[in-house]
Amino acid sequence: MKRDVLVMNVGSSSVKYSYFRNGKLVGKDNFENVFTKKERESSVRRIIMRVDVSSIGCVAHRVVHGGEISGARKVDKALLLSLRKVSELAPLHDIPEIEVIEFFMKLKVPQVAVFDTAFHQTMPLKAKAYGLPYKYYLKGIRRYGFHGISHEYVSRGLKGKVITCHLGNGCSVTAIRNGRSVDTSMGFTPLEGVVMSTRSGSLDPAIIPYMMKHERISLEKISMILNNESGLLGVSGSSHDLRDLMSSKDERARLAAEMFFYSIAKQIGAYAAAMNGVDTIVFTAGIGQNNPFVRKKILDYFGYLGVNIDNAKNKGNKRIISSKGSSVKVMVIPTDEELAIALQALRIIERK
Ligand code: ADP
Repeated sequence: MKRDVLVMNVGSSSVKYSYFRNGKLVGKDNFENVFTKKERESSVRRIIMRVDVSSIGCVAHRVVHGGEISGARKVDKALLLSLRKVSELAPLHDIPEIEVIEFFMKLKVPQVAVFDTAFHQTMPLKAKAYGLPYKYYLKGIRRYGFHGISHEYVSRGLKGKVITCHLGNGCSVTAIRNGRSVDTSMGFTPLEGVVMSTRSGSLDPAIIPYMMKHERISLEKISMILNNESGLLGVSGSSHDLRDLMSSKDERARLAAEMFFYSIAKQIGAYAAAMNGVDTIVFTAGIGQNNPFVRKKILDYFGYLGVNIDNAKNKGNKRIISSKGSSVKVMVIPTDEELAIALQALRIIERK
């Protein structure tokens, strides 16, 4: 059986791929400024020329929004139909990937779709539903959660009550009990939750109509502000990168960084309450797995829980950074979303 996996990660402006042979990464690239269907197809053609289609066991697609779908799925006509329906919820994310799936269908290679939302399907209704009239829940307006591929990957094998913090450009925190997601900070879209590099995170929803009315801002512009001009960048007015903010003497830069730590600490605290305790806190992604100072600033909020950090281990980005006497284990686990997608896809292909 052919076991090479081509992992595709297509966004609204880029086409990324990673190629795995026997679970080892043997090639990857990122095509930027790819905006149209035609441009996407030409990127895919270039990828196909590089990777030798005859040895591909399957193409695995990262699909951001899978709606109600739990787990990875083999791509067939029925799945494509449901993806098209779900894409109404996340057009910017899902439609480019669907176009690439359709392109590969013509090549008749097996394909698997792996979803960022799937891991969070196990959340109980009380975590999924918003405090809106229930009819909207029934129409699909609910918490879906994102970064599930990463939260699942870094929590594998961890028993008990776990809180995973995926801190990259997008940031989310997930509460996991015995391997199942029970709550997560991103919601209907990846805009909800903690303060992020350019996304606002949670706000009082009444701010939006207020800004539209009093600042005379259109709906499109509001969405642009919330997604691209807010968060660390918006508050500081200077940078979306925590490293710049932490080394700056500027008051607003410092405020932005403090708001970031504070919002994540509040989310961790909420999940410790939701699960009536926490056994393990995991940090991952660009910021979480590389920046000891950020982890320390967040963990300093949890003296009351008995969290105790071994400073040398934290500075060294070691796998376990809590001290022996700490009541909560704190871990740094690098995420590898592409590998996680490839492994999930292989499991589906080999399951017969
Ligand atoms: P994405 O969310 O785009 O998948 P990554 O997980 O790759 O992102 O993380 C990228 C982010 O991590 C960038 O915003 C980058 O500035 C930040 N980052 C990377 N290394 C560090 C570090 N040592 N300290 C702070 N931020 C970092």
